[in-house]
Amino acid sequence: MPAKIIDGKMRGSPRSPTHCSLSSSPIYLIKMPSKIIDGKKIADKILNGLKSKVKNMKQKPGLALVLVGDNPASEIYVNFKEKTCREVGFYCERFNLDKNISEMDLLNLINNLNQKTNIHGILVQLPLPKQIDEHLIVDSILPHKDVDGFTPVSLGNLISENAILVPATARAVMHLIESTGTNIEGKSAVVVGRSNIVGKPVAMMLLEKNATVTICHSRTRNLAGHSRKADILVVAVGKPGLITKEMVKEGAVVIDVGINRVNGKVVGDVDFENAKDAAGFITPVPGGVGPMTIAMLMENTLKAMELAQKILK
Ligand code: NAP
Repeated sequence: MPAKIIDGKMRGSPRSPTHCSLSSSPIYLIKMPSKIIDGKKIADKILNGLKSKVKNMKQKPGLALVLVGDNPASEIYVNFKEKTCREVGFYCERFNLDKNISEMDLLNLINNLNQKTNIHGILVQLPLPKQIDEHLIVDSILPHKDVDGFTPVSLGNLISENAILVPATARAVMHLIESTGTNIEGKSAVVVGRSNIVGKPVAMMLLEKNATVTICHSRTRNLAGHSRKADILVVAVGKPGLITKEMVKEGAVVIDVGINRVNGKVVGDVDFENAKDAAGFITPVPGGVGPMTIAMLMENTLKAMELAQKILK
């Protein structure tokens, strides 16, 4: 006897029953709507936990925020970081530097901050103006104060499975995937984007959790062919609408890291409105990865203080 195929896909109205010939009573096969991952809610919970923890601490975790120039997006990000830092009760020092600052003056500031015992984390908002070598500046931050996790030491530690301070956005992505209850092990994960600050660290972290990882980038042929196979799809590109519904596997976990401004609105890289009908779980933009990244930065700052205390012992 040839096997009878039960079509599990519900194509009509979700209310109409699908009759299965193997049974006398109708079986209702309903396509579950995808669950929207509320990054803001998860982040608020983490921040409240940090706030209570820090309240009784004699010394507060200290974060230095360094902003060079007047890039409006960078200014918004630094404002958020400063506001959150103060709200959770951390100590914060902010430096707004002229866009024409010399590399040497910026290096001197970092060296100063490296020495300060009340500053546990140093964050230099990127990108920096053209006259400044970004690598040189990032590399000058002491690894145990590198709350962004961008120094070669931090990235090297991550690759050698000895992660200490991990890029906040990559931690945010992992946290959001885990919040869905998805078991990452053995899953097919596709990361679109291969930057040192998002794509590569996320790929490494997924690999460490035993996913089978594919990294896609601007030269990838047939992006849709890869993305459609992903149980977990992380998109960090910076191109609105790059990932359409047709590029998402039914039931996949979709994490949209992208931040784009379109007609005065902030949107991600995924066509959220349509892709949410295919995904099992999906993050919105705004309200997904963004708030979680800031929460992870605060956690990194607390961790940096604990590291400093260990080093001084
Ligand atoms: P990036 O350094 O510009 O990297 C973008 C990556 O996307 C590159 O690897 C690039 O490939 C790849 N790419 C470009 N066009 C592509 C295409 N058509 N198909 C496939 N891949 C393509 O950007 P990033 O710093 O990683 O940031 C990515 C996005 O995330 C941006 O929108 C940024 O604003 C956002 N972001 C958000 C947060 C947050 O907290 N929510 C944090 C950081 C970044 P190549 O390597 O081949 O050039």
